[in-house]
Amino acid sequence: MYVAEEHHLVHTRFDPDQADNTARFTLIGSMRRALDAGELVLHYQPKIDVGTGSLIGAEALARWQHPSRGLLMPGEFIPMLERTSLIHGFTRHVLGLALVQARDWLDQGIRIPVAVNVSTRCLLDPQFPETVASCLLAAGVPGELLRIEITENTLMADPERTADSLRRIRALGVKAAIDDFGTGYSSMVYLKLLPVDEIKIDRSFVHDLDTDLRNRVLVESAIELGHNLGLTVIAEGVEDSASLDTLHDLGCDGAQGYHFSRPLSPADFGRWLEARPPARHRSTRDHSVATVA
Ligand code: C2E
Ligand code: CA
Ligand code: CA
Repeated sequence: MYVAEEHHLVHTRFDPDQADNTARFTLIGSMRRALDAGELVLHYQPKIDVGTGSLIGAEALARWQHPSRGLLMPGEFIPMLERTSLIHGFTRHVLGLALVQARDWLDQGIRIPVAVNVSTRCLLDPQFPETVASCLLAAGVPGELLRIEITENTLMADPERTADSLRRIRALGVKAAIDDFGTGYSSMVYLKLLPVDEIKIDRSFVHDLDTDLRNRVLVESAIELGHNLGLTVIAEGVEDSASLDTLHDLGCDGAQGYHFSRPLSPADFGRWLEARPPARHRSTRDHSVATVA
């Protein structure tokens, strides 16, 4: 059914000999049940201010606690989901979970925005801005504590409608970021057409930043481009302090990656928060840091 829908067909033939298809049908067919059964969980990865070292947000990343296959990573089910209308219910579900978490943090005195990945297919749904508004209302979370990261696997189908959705969502106080900046079909087109607040430089450019001159030049240009457009720039995939130092030199605003933490379950995220030292302030390029009072 989902394959027929994907190709705008009235029907399609199910071929049980194609193991690949069978696995795919079974997996996607069980997503609705999985959402009801609470098998979808979110892990959270901290986002850090490059200048001060303080926590500036957390990105929600989906995991599927599958009853027989164990913990599935998003790469194993999201690309398939994105090709069917199931992505809408899935994204609503993720939004709901992430905002309940944001509310929970708020109740503990932790005021950080939570970021949710939203594919452009969802932005094309004219109902989506209202969905965002009602999820915020239901969770009792102000719009400024939600970010959406626009992810893309295919060419943006209707830029005008996408931009219109974004305008309506940003009117709620929600900020929007272009994810995986520098890769994919249309990063520059996105910058031209979409009203956003932030770009997230893809981790493939951030890798070995201190030794790979080409990456350094690309990241430096992306930061300058973002800043010239008045946007905040976040680097993804920061795995070591040398890369972080380079990002600091280049004036990057925020960073995210294994150097700070892997994505964590809400319980582990709480423990990570408790264990971390107070925010630091870098006074020079290298390791001289002073604790912020
Ligand atoms: P993304 O939005 O680019 O998320 C960052 C991915 O990079 C995460 O993988 C994270 O675990 C990984 N990562 C973080 N820091 C590092 C690092 O220092 N080094 C390396 N090598 N990797 C790092 P994950 O969780 O497997 O997510 C993969 C992708 O799945 C995400 O990429 C996002 O595009 C998509 N995704 C995840 N959750 C959702 C969701 O709820 N909705 C939608 N539409 N897509 C989602
Ligand atoms: Ca993301
Ligand atoms: Ca990304």
